[in-house]
Amino acid sequence: MAEERVLVVEDEPMVAEVVERYLRRDGYTVSVVHDGDKAMDAFERFQPDLIVLDLMLPGLDGTEICRRVRARSQTSIIMLTARGEETDKIVGLGMGADDYVTKPFSPRELAARVKAVLRRAKNNVEADGDHLRFGDLRINGRTRKVEDHRGPIELTAREFDLLFHLASHPEQVFSREQLLDAVWDLEFPGDASTVTVSIRRLRSKVETDPSRPRHLKTVWGVGYKFEP
Ligand code: CA
Repeated sequence: MAEERVLVVEDEPMVAEVVERYLRRDGYTVSVVHDGDKAMDAFERFQPDLIVLDLMLPGLDGTEICRRVRARSQTSIIMLTARGEETDKIVGLGMGADDYVTKPFSPRELAARVKAVLRRAKNNVEADGDHLRFGDLRINGRTRKVEDHRGPIELTAREFDLLFHLASHPEQVFSREQLLDAVWDLEFPGDASTVTVSIRRLRSKVETDPSRPRHLKTVWGVGYKFEP
C-alpha cells in the first residue's frame, strides 16, 4: 500500500508530538504545522490524504482552514475540539469535516479514527461511481433504483435525492437546513420540517423497522446521518 500522508495542524507541541509519533508508527507519512496561517501552504505543498485539524489555532482557525480545504478538495479532515466546544463541533461537521475527536483524547483512538476515515474515503472512490451498497440495501445513482432483500423500493424523486445525498456521505451529520439546501434547491428559505417529514417517509420505505432505523439515524439536536 502506498504510504498515506497525514498533515497535523495543532498548536500545542505536546499534542502534536504524540499524534505525530502514533501516526508514524502506523506507517503514515506525517507533516506537522503549529500555526493556522501555515496550514494552507502546507496543504498545497504536502498534498495530504488526511488532515488532523485543531479547531482553536493561532492565525487561521480550524473552521476557516476546513472551509478553504473543502472549497478545493475532498481531502479527509478530522477535527480536534476541546471539551465543551459543542457548537463549534457541530459547525466543524457542517463545514464538511469527516470526523472529530474531543480533547483530551487517547492517541490510539485518534489513530483508529484516521485509519477508519481513510478506509472510508478509499471505499467511496472504489464504490463504482454512483452505485452504493450497504449490506443488502442497494442504491444506484444512475438508474435511481433502490432495492433491498424485499425487492425494489419505490421512492419519489425527492426521497431518492435525499437518500442518495445522505448515503453518499456515510456517517456525516447534516442539519435539516443543510439538507434543504442540498436536496431541495429552493430559491427561498425552506421550512426545515419538510426534511423531518421526508425522512419519516423515507424510513417507512427503506427501513425494515422504521421505528428503529438501521441506516437513517437522527442525531439529536443536530440533524441526520446515514449509517452504513
Ligand atoms: Ca489549539
